[in-house]
Amino acid sequence: MLFPCLVLLLLPWSGFMAPAFMSETTTSSTTEPQAADVELATEYLQHFYNLKEESAGRGKRSDSTFTSKVKDMQIFFGLNVTGSLDSETLDVMTSPRCGVPDVEDYSHIQSTRWNKNQITYNIRRYTSDLPRSTVDSLIEMAFNAWSRVSRLKFVRSHSHNADIIMEFATYAHGDLFPFDGPRGTLAHAFGPGPGIGGDTHFDDNEQWTAGPKGFNLKLVAAHEIGHALGLRHSGNPESLMFPNYKASRAVNLLSLEDVANINALYSPVLFPIYLNPWLFPHLIADRCAPDMSFDAVSTVGDATFFFREKYLWIKLNGQSDIKEGPISNFMPKIDTGIDAAYRIPRKNTAFLFHESMFWTVKGSMVRGKPRPLSHFGFPVWVQEVDAAVHLVKTGRTLFFVHDIYWSYNENRRAMDRGCPKYISEGFPGLNMTETINAAFHKESFIYFFIGAQVYQYDYTQKRTVGVERANSWLGC
Ligand code: ZN
Ligand code: ZN
Repeated sequence: MLFPCLVLLLLPWSGFMAPAFMSETTTSSTTEPQAADVELATEYLQHFYNLKEESAGRGKRSDSTFTSKVKDMQIFFGLNVTGSLDSETLDVMTSPRCGVPDVEDYSHIQSTRWNKNQITYNIRRYTSDLPRSTVDSLIEMAFNAWSRVSRLKFVRSHSHNADIIMEFATYAHGDLFPFDGPRGTLAHAFGPGPGIGGDTHFDDNEQWTAGPKGFNLKLVAAHEIGHALGLRHSGNPESLMFPNYKASRAVNLLSLEDVANINALYSPVLFPIYLNPWLFPHLIADRCAPDMSFDAVSTVGDATFFFREKYLWIKLNGQSDIKEGPISNFMPKIDTGIDAAYRIPRKNTAFLFHESMFWTVKGSMVRGKPRPLSHFGFPVWVQEVDAAVHLVKTGRTLFFVHDIYWSYNENRRAMDRGCPKYISEGFPGLNMTETINAAFHKESFIYFFIGAQVYQYDYTQKRTVGVERANSWLGC
């Protein structure tokens, strides 16, 4: 098994924007921008314009990358292209908006469409801001805005297998794109696809309303449904797909541009109904299949991630529902499988491994480019790891490769002396019928995922104390 790192992504910063009033933020546009403005802009550009972490505020070259991202943003919104954080730019950046990024690189989750004309939706979790029946009818009106102008038909379903699952949630809610409290990001949606594809989430820290005060649910829902159908953001303030919230749009939802875009995407072709409705049938994975095994298992933030090939299941701690979908839906930078993964809780950092490379995930963002495995001090012949696990008590990370393992001292940043060792010596009594797929640390046990089984190993007593089916961890 390979050793995967944890990848966290932060998408949550989009929403709609209110009409731009004079900003209360610092408006010393001709002088140096305030540190708080730079910080805000950096976060904004990372979320919505694919600004890389290492480009933020370090050195000359970084400054020029930052400036060019500011310009990209100004071009998108039709502002004066100054490359500086003037008050007009900061106004837009501080406006409530949709959490989906504005540039394609970071949001390919929107580039597809449903391969059918009838799409089902389910409202799984409600807000307490409005009566349920009001939420139901506002959502229905939002769907109607799109069905009126296209061939699409939307059917409400009570099944959890509906194409579009809608829910209200706060902060981290299991998909790597945590919400941010009041204002800022209002909602986000995933583009068409299996699993989490099409799913639409509303930040329940907003004041949701049926009228002009707070944030109008019909308006925000209609925008997010646009994403769930495959549309991207538009820089045209008249378009419903403009990223920022504009309360004035509530009466006339769709612009001509929106109508043209939805019909271009769903051209008047009738899809035979006997075709498999999914876009990516080969990517659907049944987590309860009897021989189910995982390539890597690790915590990331408040959740446990289960990787298998290019698919990911996310179980939020203390909750029973599971998010799932292609890995790239959650982590657009990663379009491979993950061999191994581990997390260092005190650094809130996870590492995801694919063959001889690994990604670093800080908080919920994949940081920078993947780095080579040799970083840890492996000999050159180690080109992948099967599994990795971090033991908080000892500050050690264990890497498993075939029948041997390495112990890496995270404080000294070096391999321990005497490595590698045989797994059979370090972990006597572990029933290794095949190589270790994944390893996970909880309380004083290491859980070894081997084939379809998971072995609970007491590493102080040096013995296996339990065994169960691997997918029982996913409620099977
Ligand atoms: Zn949006
Ligand atoms: Zn979400």
